[in-house]
Order: sequence, then C-alpha cells, then structure tokens
Amino acid sequence: MTVLFNAPRPIRSVLVANRGEIACRVMRTCRRLGLRTVAVHSDADADALHVRSADDSHRIGAGPATESYLDMDAVLAAARASGADAIHPGYGFLSENAAFARRCEEAGIVFIGPTPDAVAAMGSKIEAKRIAVEAGVPTVPGYHGDDQDPVRLAAEAERIGYPVLIKASAGGGGRGMRLVERPQDFAAALETARTEARSAFGDDSVLLERYIANPRHLEVQLVGDSHGNLVHLFERDCSVQRNNQKVLEEAPAPNLPGAVRARLHDTALKLGRAIGYRSAGTVEFIMEAGGSEPYFLEMNTRLQVEHPVTEAITGIDLVEWQLLVAAGLPLPLDQDAIRAVGHAIEARVAAERPEASFQPSIGRIAALQAPVGLRFDTGVEGGSQVTPFYDSMLAKLIAHGPDRSAARDRLEQGLSELSVLGLATNQAFLRDCVARPAFAEGRATTRFLVENFPDGWKPQGVDRLRALAAAIWATRLPAAQSPWQERGGFRVTGARRPASVELELSDDHGTASARLTLGPDGFALRIDDRDIVLGPLDLGSGPVEVGGAPVAFRCADDVVHLSHRGLAASVRLRPAIDVDRSATLSAASDGTVVAPLHGLVTDISVSAGERVEKGRPLMKMEAMKLVHTLVAPIDGTVAALRCAVGDTVPADHHLIEIAPLGEE
Ligand code: ADP
Ligand code: ADP
Ligand code: MG
Repeated sequence: MTVLFNAPRPIRSVLVANRGEIACRVMRTCRRLGLRTVAVHSDADADALHVRSADDSHRIGAGPATESYLDMDAVLAAARASGADAIHPGYGFLSENAAFARRCEEAGIVFIGPTPDAVAAMGSKIEAKRIAVEAGVPTVPGYHGDDQDPVRLAAEAERIGYPVLIKASAGGGGRGMRLVERPQDFAAALETARTEARSAFGDDSVLLERYIANPRHLEVQLVGDSHGNLVHLFERDCSVQRNNQKVLEEAPAPNLPGAVRARLHDTALKLGRAIGYRSAGTVEFIMEAGGSEPYFLEMNTRLQVEHPVTEAITGIDLVEWQLLVAAGLPLPLDQDAIRAVGHAIEARVAAERPEASFQPSIGRIAALQAPVGLRFDTGVEGGSQVTPFYDSMLAKLIAHGPDRSAARDRLEQGLSELSVLGLATNQAFLRDCVARPAFAEGRATTRFLVENFPDGWKPQGVDRLRALAAAIWATRLPAAQSPWQERGGFRVTGARRPASVELELSDDHGTASARLTLGPDGFALRIDDRDIVLGPLDLGSGPVEVGGAPVAFRCADDVVHLSHRGLAASVRLRPAIDVDRSATLSAASDGTVVAPLHGLVTDISVSAGERVEKGRPLMKMEAMKLVHTLVAPIDGTVAALRCAVGDTVPADHHLIEIAPLGEE
C-alpha cells in the first residue's frame, strides 16, 4: 500500500519479532498491504509455519525464548541484516518491553506499538494504578504504594480485608498472583510471591488487591494515533479463564446494562487520554457479577490474543491500524464512524490435555483440517512439530454471527469439525465449555470452570472412538497385514466372516485389551468388560462418515490417529495372541516359559514364589508388532524370573521357570 511507503515514517518491510499464530496473522495483513515480511526463528522453529509464511527469515538463537525471541540484540541484528524498517512485536516476548521499544527507535526502526514511555508506565501495575487513580478511574480497592515493607503490607492487607490477592507489579499472562485467605498466611505468601516475582520478572515489588469472589473480566479495545485521536472499539468479555488465563473471549460483552457499557468505554478513553496513548491497547477491568461498577485492573500496551473478536464485529483490521499509526498517519475513522455488527466468540486451541490437569502435549501434528466458514488463526499445520519451549496455544477459532446464539452455534460446530490428528489438544473441552448452559446464557464469570467441572473435565465417548479406530485399522490395513486374513499367529475365529480379532490397544487414556468383531450386524468392540456396538460402517476406500459426521483419520504404522465430532485420539493397535494356544509358538512343555521371538518384555504380572495355574497369563512381550501374552505352561510355583520389564530378549530365551507342584 503506497500510503505506508510515503508516510511520515515510511514502512516497506516489517520484521515480526514473534512466532506461532500471531506472527502468521501479522504477516497476513502486511502481505495484503504490499509490505515485505521478515520472520525470526529459534532453532526449534527452523521449519515453523511462520518462517515459511515470510519473504525472508533469520535465525536468532536456540530453543529457549531467553536465547532467541527475548534476545533484543539478536532481533535487532536480524532487522538490520534484513533491511526491515519496522518491527511488530506481537504479544508476549518483547511486546511490553519498554527498553526494546526504545532501542528500536534509537536504531531508526519503527516500533509498531505505543511509545516506550507508555509501555513503561503501564508495564508496572503499581504505576498504572497510580495513573488511573489520578485520572479518576476506579481501581480495585487495594494498596499500590512504594513502601514494600512486609509489616506495612500486612497492615494494608488487614485494611483491605481478606481474602486479598498479592500481585507481582511486573506480572502478566496470568502469572505472579497469589490468593491469601487468612491473615496468618500472609507473611509466608508474601515471601513466596516475592521470590517468584523476582525470578520470573526480575522485579519483586507487589501490589495488594481485594479479592473479588465472583467477577467478570471486561476489557476495552483502544486505538490512538500521534495526532491526538483516540477511539474505542467496544468491549470484550473474557471471563472464561483457567488459572487467570483466558480460554474463551467474546465481543460485545453479553448481558451488560447499557449504562455499564458506556461507563467502560468512557473510563478506558479517560485513561488512554491521560497517557496520550498511541497504537492498539487494551484496558482491562474486573466487575462483580451483576454489579455496575467496573474496576480498572491493568492496561496491556500491545495487540491482545483475543483481538480478532473485535475485528469480527467492527470489520477493522487492527494490525493495519497499528501500521498506519506507527507510520505517523492518522486513524482512518472517527469514533462515530465505528460500528459493531453482530457477535463474535473466540476459543483458544492449545496443545494440552484437559483430562490430565491440562498437561502440555508435545509432538508432531500428523494432519490438521480447519473447519469451513469460521476464521481460524493458526501457527501450525499438518507436519508441524510442537516443542516444549513455548506457550501451548496453537491456534484460535473465531466465530461471528448476527447475534450471540448464532456465533455460539457456529463456534460449537467449528469445534466439532476442526481435526487435529497426532497431538492431544483441548478441543473437545472447549466444545463442552461452549455448550454449557451458563455459557450459552451469557452468565459466565471467572468461576465458570470450577463451577462447571468441579471434578475436572473428562472426555465423553473415548471407547467409541477407540472402537472406530479398531475398525478402521482392521479394514484399512493392506490385505497382507489385515487381521481379517487368516495368517500365522493371529487368532481369527471363523475362517470367513463373522470374524473377530484380539487386540492390545493403547492411547492417552491408557492401555486395554479388546476384541473387535465384525458380524452380520456390523462392528462391535469389547474393551475390558464394556461392549461398544458401532453397527454397520462403510469403511471402503472413500471418506468415512459416522452418524452424519465425517471421521478424519490417518493410519501410521500401528497407530490410527482419528478425530470425530471434536474428539481426537491416537490409538495404537496391535493384534494380541495367546502363545499357549498357538502350536507354532508354544512354550516348552515343561515349566519353562520361552520367548517366542526376539522382542521386548512389556509386562510381568507374577512374582517369584507365587502359585500359578496352567493357562494363567504371566507376562507380555512385544515382538513383530504383536503383543504376546505368555501363560503358565503347567500348574506350579514361580521358581525364577529371568527377565524384567524393559528387557529386550532373544528368541528362545528362558523367561520364567515354573516348578511343578511338589518340586518347589
Ligand atoms: P491477552 O492478555 O492478550 O489476553 P495472555 O494474557 O494470555 O493474553 O498473554 C498473551 C501471551 O503473552 C501469552 O503467551 C502470555 O504467556 C504472554 N505474556 C503476557 N504478559 C506477559 C508478560 N508480562 N511477560 C511474559 N509473557 C507475557
Ligand atoms: P495479568 O497481567 O496476568 O493478565 P490481571 O491483573 O489482568 O493479570 O488479572 C488476570 C486475571 O486474574 C483477571 O482476569 C481475573 O480473572 C483475575 N484477577 C485479577 N485481579 C483480581 C481480583 N482483584 N479479584 C479476583 N480476581 C482477579
Ligand atoms: Mg491481564
């Protein structure tokens, strides 16, 4: 766009000092405006989507962020080397680092963000609250003084009233907060909070706030220019949070009285004006559910993760506006010309396992299919490697509709259609959140997750998905490997269909023995003592559909990655055989249990001295992709264990000795 080329501070080429979805998203706008894009990357991201999306890319260091994305010298060197005349910092990393903004300016590179002074003022929660109080903006009742003496702080906590929240002044991203319920716990909590803040943010100053028991998180999007114009782009509600981090976000805020909405916008503008704010920024508030007084929390002097919901309802590209303003141009629209249409909701798709305390998952994405009809901002695609170095957020799904219920329906549909294969994500959890009545009715507060999933979240339908995996695996294997074909080692009951096959199945949810049956009524799987009846399925060579919804799947070796209605799994399947019943691979007829093949000992279920009956399963081995259950060849006592779990043993190795009864 020539307007940027010829602006007071011309921009032709933008280095994006970030990674993942936000780097890709910023580059998309740059490309549309005819700007050249430069990516930076760590070693862990050498092949990442954001690198391949750019016109030019530069390595800036090793995997850990401190050695790459947070290394100002490396980023600035890359900017010089690439001839970039502007840097977009995205969010996180260096985006709220005043020293970095200053160094960009000193190097003659346009920092696409606010002035270094505004970043510095708002980067300290203490300083930000002082400015807010001075500007007449209501803040959460608390203490934000310079006196950091523990005795003074304890007295202030007493005055505020328990429970109180200790916050690191330099904290962010939901980290650096500590809830204290009782006065006697204050001293210890302060000590811990200080230590954490020092190591995480290099600054141990804290502020205290009254803990608001059941609040909503509301925030206002601002954009200002260097000509004295400042506008708001309405508000967002980000109350659905986990550990003070946002999970679902929407615009506008639902069920908000008009007077409160107007107060939010006015207050945010008042604060923005007080600091002469330029660029995109967000003023965050907290408000008691059902209340009418929003309290200022903090201001984020950057593009926010959830900015797309605002873009959806206003039709404004916030990155474009950031670029215009950074180039010294005025905002393209007046407040009166900015309108909101419909409703938008965003869900953050993360590489984590909600059923396992939201443990992060890492690995390779085997395949990824985005849903149609929604905005999908992603930093990954099929083949992408997810490493442990960075934030677990992979992508965001954004639904826009004429009203909230239409947007919610679209998001729920999108969360059912998205398929991420090969890597565990929180997708099914997000879909369940969106479907909950409290969310559907727009009543969510920050207590939404604890109230809706008091015992944690559990996926529904895992066994059905496993059954589907087994059916796909058995049917789609090349004929030579198919367990439906009678071949040595497989126990197939009946030479022709109906047929059944014994399986060992493992996935994120555990390991189980199962039997897959194909009879006149279709497929059924018995897992442990549960029967899952799938019925007739068309598993021919075309796309697979079950219950009107497509099944996305990818078979890789003995693993079936699949996703159906938003629930995904990677199921490892191996045919199991009972060695005692297989004449060719039988154990010796005396008391020695012998390895049928070269393989790995995976399980031993007896100990020395134990009495066993003939036929009792003693151990399992994996060999030639089969799980072999080795059973007691005779009645007797376990006289010796000659292997351990994890051992690789040669064929014919003596594994367990059973002494016949009376001879032990
Ligand atoms: P938003 O405030 O945009 O809704 P988050 O609070 O989740 O989003 O933060 C966005 C990203 O920035 C996350 O990756 C988060 O970890 C990171 N982040 C936010 N603030 C800080 C900070 N002060 N220091 C380091 N990382 C931060
Ligand atoms: P961060 O910089 O980590 O984003 P914030 O101050 O914006 O920190 O708070 C993040 C979240 O923590 C809020 O959205 C809210 O859910 C919760 N929170 C913050 N302050 C309070 C408070 N005083 N009472 C209750 N919850 C709070
Ligand atoms: Mg915040």
